Amino acid sequence: MADVLTIPPPAEDAEPLKANIYEFSRSLTCTLAPMFPHLHAGAIVPTVALFWGRKDGDYGYFEHFNTVDEVVIIFGADGAAGRARTGLVRVNAHTHGVGNFLPDPDDPEVFSLICITQRQSEEAQQEEAVWFKCEKCQHDYGRLEFTWDPVCPDDVAPTHGNYAALETVVKSAQAASKYNADDASHTCTECGHVNAPFPLDRWGWDRYAAQTVAVQRAEAALKAVAAGD
Ligand SMILES: [Zn+2]
Repeated sequence: MADVLTIPPPAEDAEPLKANIYEFSRSLTCTLAPMFPHLHAGAIVPTVALFWGRKDGDYGYFEHFNTVDEVVIIFGADGAAGRARTGLVRVNAHTHGVGNFLPDPDDPEVFSLICITQRQSEEAQQEEAVWFKCEKCQHDYGRLEFTWDPVCPDDVAPTHGNYAALETVVKSAQAASKYNADDASHTCTECGHVNAPFPLDRWGWDRYAAQTVAVQRAEAALKAVAAGD
């Protein structure tokens, strides 16, 4: 019988890393920012979403489907109740709501520091979907589905470039941008209500996607100079 109780040593190209979540979260680019560079198939990927109040601070709300489990730990909160309160540990259902964590997002005193960890799919493509609920009639609309292959360590550079992005964040940025592109995209297909644009700025996914491209190009630029190109 195979020894299923012994954890194998880490792969040589994916050494164990550690970080302090409070230190890390101060410099976040976006919600769902991965804490470590390991994003390959089978990798444990802790991400952080820090929700905090400010004037016009509404984050909006959407529904998310993910074929892999998401384990959630709240590392501290103030003014956040229910599923965003301090110390809560939960496993998300594969379809779950995202947003509305702060009862009053305009209050600068409220926040919730949320760690969401997923294990990257190994054998099958990872399937995800995001969609919105009409603020008037609660009808689901604007569904965008996406599938992706977690990067394999050997493929990271040729397939995704160095400093590969967490695909969930990039695809979510694309979904939100598409949603915001015109009124037709956020008009309810059931009741015709024109819903508000999605406050993408609060989530920062487009910033993460753009900065990923920028740092990849920065590294290439420096290498080119070093090579005398
Ligand atoms: Zn509606």
